[in-house]
Amino acid sequence: MYQKGRAWIELNRAHLHHNVRLFQRILPKSCQLMPAIKANAYGHGAELIGKELHKMGITQYCVACAEEGVRLRQSGITGEILILGYTHPQDFERLRKYRLTQTVVDYTYGRELSAYGYPLLVHIGIDTGMHRLGEDSTHIDKIQKLWDLPGLCITGVFSHLCTSDGTSRKEQMFVKLQERRFLQVIKSLKKARKTGFATHLQGSYGILNGNLLHGHYQYARAGIALYGALSESSALLSQKYPLKPVLSLKARIACIRELSEGEGAGYGLTWHADKRRLLAAVSIGYADGIPRTLSNKGHVLIKGEKAPVVGRVCMDQLLLDVTKIKGVQSKDEVVFIGKSGEKEIKVEEMAREAGTISNEILSGLSDRLCRMFV
Ligand SMILES: *Cc1c(COP(=O)(O)O)cnc(C)c1O
Repeated sequence: MYQKGRAWIELNRAHLHHNVRLFQRILPKSCQLMPAIKANAYGHGAELIGKELHKMGITQYCVACAEEGVRLRQSGITGEILILGYTHPQDFERLRKYRLTQTVVDYTYGRELSAYGYPLLVHIGIDTGMHRLGEDSTHIDKIQKLWDLPGLCITGVFSHLCTSDGTSRKEQMFVKLQERRFLQVIKSLKKARKTGFATHLQGSYGILNGNLLHGHYQYARAGIALYGALSESSALLSQKYPLKPVLSLKARIACIRELSEGEGAGYGLTWHADKRRLLAAVSIGYADGIPRTLSNKGHVLIKGEKAPVVGRVCMDQLLLDVTKIKGVQSKDEVVFIGKSGEKEIKVEEMAREAGTISNEILSGLSDRLCRMFV
């Protein structure tokens, strides 16, 4: 049941639709979105987001692991679900049972998949320079030999960019180099009469930074930006693309107390009142996904006003200095991400204060938080 008693997430359906439509306008008609809904849809709730995207006519998704794919199937999501990461042979059974599409992380792994005994749906990963997963793009022979393996039903070939979020000339040159290597592989496969597979290369930044040959690919694996966020704030990109944040993160004040000058608060008493101060205890902590690095650092919104985080963030609670907030009381709503009155905290801002990127903040939002479209 959805409860807003302690700490919760509100999802904005209109904003999700807006972002999806925006991407569909940027991409040519021939290139469809394959939304990344791994890590519980970047903390938004994979089932809620998956179903909403499905209603919007999306028929393919990508996730990180077999477990995530199985959960989506169990919640009724049909269509293609691509597992971007490695799946151990002991889970091949689940790939088959739930009709999940597995990434071939290299040639050797392709043989393991083929040896399973039943045909499995796969996309071939190509390493074009990131050196994480995929068969080396120069190993054309090995890549072609994957088509000779009887247990593989190859429906896609893809690669992944590693500097597409960079704006320097060097980073953007590397993106183009990766694309050239990828297109070379595709060309040689076509020449060897391997056909009937989809190709895909870009994530959010590969689409937004916009100098790739979108028209060449059937899918685009957008993640972070579909949720209306960027990994780090960028004046340039947010001006060019009006993305709208889908997620708000809120919690409630449990109680308020007055501290007199010199009194400390929280674990280790790392914070002290420099004069009379009002502190609020809020029912949310690092077990919910609030980074502990926000101790004595972050800020939140209450009644449209800013309040700083004081003391160390605890597992289930944290403290705020609410001295300046007029009429503040127990049960008041505290906004960590989202709007309050005229003010707004974007996840990019919280991420910067915490010394990380939006992706890590969002994907770290735990199961203890209720989620719902409001
Ligand atoms: C996570 C991921 C994506 C989505 O990336 P975003 O930057 O969030 O759009 C795409 N492709 C692969 C292989 C990924 O791991």
